[in-house]
Amino acid sequence: MKELEQLKTWIAESDNIVFFGGAGVSTESGIPDFRSVDGLYSQQYDYPPETIISHTFYRKNPKEFFRFYKNKMLFPDAKPNAAHLALAKLEQQGRLKAVITQNIDGLHQAAGSREVLELHGSVHRNYCTRCGRFFDLKDIMAMDGVPYCTCGGIIKPDVVLYEEGLDQRTIQKAVSYIARADVLIIGGTSLTVYPAAGLIDYYQGNKLVLINKSVTPMDSRANLVISGKIGDVFSQIMD
Ligand code: NAD
Repeated sequence: MKELEQLKTWIAESDNIVFFGGAGVSTESGIPDFRSVDGLYSQQYDYPPETIISHTFYRKNPKEFFRFYKNKMLFPDAKPNAAHLALAKLEQQGRLKAVITQNIDGLHQAAGSREVLELHGSVHRNYCTRCGRFFDLKDIMAMDGVPYCTCGGIIKPDVVLYEEGLDQRTIQKAVSYIARADVLIIGGTSLTVYPAAGLIDYYQGNKLVLINKSVTPMDSRANLVISGKIGDVFSQIMD
């Protein structure tokens, strides 16, 4: 396929690649995305997922929030797939500068990536809202229902809920990597969740690659569109 050859060439010629991804990067690891036909938004709950994972809902109904969060958003046994592993390898080879992700699953770090900017936080970090004590994912999984600290405070995942702002330092770093990138590879994201999707506006180069299973609103802005599963794509282009 000539698109794959083109991507391979751009990767081989660059030492300043930046990757920006979303939930589709982890579907091949068994974590459902939100907006695919078999994604979380197509399943039926008493409330729409956007409502449950909002700040208001978390405050008003923590019991239901944590029931959903623990059942549907935690995948402690998921393993990195070919896409995560390829990106870690490209960083080691000095070609890729950073992974910017909307995912909260920690799989890029599990694959060995070092410079990972988590725009929406991580399920692996949890803090007591009263005393600030840190808890990891295992701690949260081991607690029934709403997780409470020994001090009595609720433990909140370090995950950006709807209505909450993004960490400004992380956003600034992401903007800076994208603005200086030679090749920008965007994959596995519907590019509909803002402000994350707006990051693409900062790219100034002419090697914008989009790898996605379905069409996105930004396809017409890309220099190269590869339609397919991102793990398969990276398996085919990595030596
Ligand atoms: P999304 O669910 O809106 O879109 C996922 C996109 O990836 C879709 O366009 C889909 O066609 C595509 N896709 C699915 N599997 C793919 C594959 N194997 N290869 C290539 N493309 C594939 O996801 P989003 O744009 O990231 O936005 C959803 C929000 O949900 C994000 O903010 C993210 O934080 C959160 N989320 C995270 C996880 C996770 O951490 N793994 C999982 C679900 C949702």
